[in-house]
Amino acid sequence: MLEKRSVGAGASGGFVGALMPHHTERWNAKKQMQFEALAELSDVIGELEADTGMTCGYRRCGRLVPLLHEQTREIVSRRIEGAREFWGGQFTMELVEPGDLARVSRWLDPAAAPHGAQWDDLSARVNPRRYVEALACHVRAHGEIREGVEVVRLEPENRSVVLADGRRLSAGEICVAAGFEAYPLLQPFMDAMNDGKVIGRGVKGQAVLLSHQHDDSEPILYESGAYVVPHEGNFVAVGSTSHDHDGGAPDAFDPGDMGFYHKALTLAPCLAPAQITGRWANVRPRNMLKGTGSEPYFGAVPGHDGLSARIGGFKIGVGVGGSVKFCS
Ligand SMILES: Cc1cc2nc3c(=O)[nH]c(=O)nc-3n(C[C@H](O)[C@H](O)[C@H](O)COP(=O)(O)OP(=O)(O)OC[C@H]3O[C@@H](n4cnc5c(N)ncnc54)[C@H](O)[C@@H]3O)c2cc1C
Repeated sequence: MLEKRSVGAGASGGFVGALMPHHTERWNAKKQMQFEALAELSDVIGELEADTGMTCGYRRCGRLVPLLHEQTREIVSRRIEGAREFWGGQFTMELVEPGDLARVSRWLDPAAAPHGAQWDDLSARVNPRRYVEALACHVRAHGEIREGVEVVRLEPENRSVVLADGRRLSAGEICVAAGFEAYPLLQPFMDAMNDGKVIGRGVKGQAVLLSHQHDDSEPILYESGAYVVPHEGNFVAVGSTSHDHDGGAPDAFDPGDMGFYHKALTLAPCLAPAQITGRWANVRPRNMLKGTGSEPYFGAVPGHDGLSARIGGFKIGVGVGGSVKFCS
C-alpha cells in the first residue's frame, strides 16, 4: 500500500465517526449495500480488534433525529414501515413522543424536538483514528505500507504506477483508494463511463472535539447536517460543514465557520460549557458518477484490466469503506 502522506492523513482520519443509515424511502442498491455494511460492522470490527489487539471505540449507540414540524411525523411513519421491510427484522426505528424523549436521551433539549424524534438502533459510532490505526496494523501484518510515497500516474496497460520521484513500480493489480485525489489519477481511464467529465469533487468539512464527562450511554443526535456524536473517554465529536474544496490546504480549519457547532448546542445545551479540545478539517470525496451519483465506488474500472478503485461514499465513507477494506 502506497500512501502519499501518512496513514489517516485523509478524510478517514478525523474524529466524528457517525455510522448512520440512509433514510428508508426509495430503497435502492446503494442503501442496501450501506445497510449490509453497517449491519456487519460490529462483527467486522470485533474480528479486527481480535486480530490486532487494538480497540476501535465502536458502539451501536443509536440515533435520535428531532422533529421540528408536525408533517415530518407522517414521513417518519413511512420510514418506520421501510425499516420493517428493509432492515431484516434485526433493527428498529420508532417515533418517540415529545413527552418520552428523556427515555432515549438526557442531552437532547425537548424544546429542540417539539414534535418528538425519530429513533433507530442501527446507527453506531466508531473512533475513526483508532479504527484506521487498527486497519493499518492489520495491513502491516499481512503486507506492507510505504508512507510518503506518492503515485502520480497509473499505467494499467503495463501493470505499473509511476511515483513522484520518477520511479516505476509494478503491480499485479492496481487499486486506487486515494479519496478525492483519486479523481485526477483516474480521469484518463473513466471517459467511457462519464463522457470525459471529472468523476467527482472534493467537499471540505470541519468538526470539533469536546471534552465532556459522560457515561457513554447517549445516542447520536443529528439535525440538518449538525451531528453530536458521543465517544468513549469523555469526548464528544461535533460536526460538520460542507463546502466545495477550493484547492487550499485540506486540513486548514476555519474558526469563522462554526455554525454547525452552535446548531449542535441548540440540540444539546448541556454541552455549552464543554471545552473544545480538538479542531479538524479535511476533504471528503464526493463521487459524481454517471448513473450512480455520489455512492461509494468499489470495483473495476471498465475497459482497463488490472485497475480498480475504492472511493468512499459522500459522508458515509467510514462505515462502508472500513467494512469493505477489511473484508477484501
Ligand atoms: C469533517 C468530516 C466529517 C465526516 N464525518 C463522517 C462520519 O461521521 N461518518 C462517515 O462515515 N464518514 C464521514 N466523513 C466522510 C468520510 O471521512 C469519507 O467518506 C472517507 O473517509 C473517505 O475515505 P477514502 O479512503 O475514500 O479517502 P481518504 O480517507 O481521504 O484516504 C485517501 C488517502 O489516499 C492518500 N493519497 C491521495 N493521493 C495519493 C497518491 N497520489 N498517492 C498515494 N496516496 C495518496 C491520502 O493521503 C489519504 O491518506 C466525514 C468527512 C469529513 C471531512
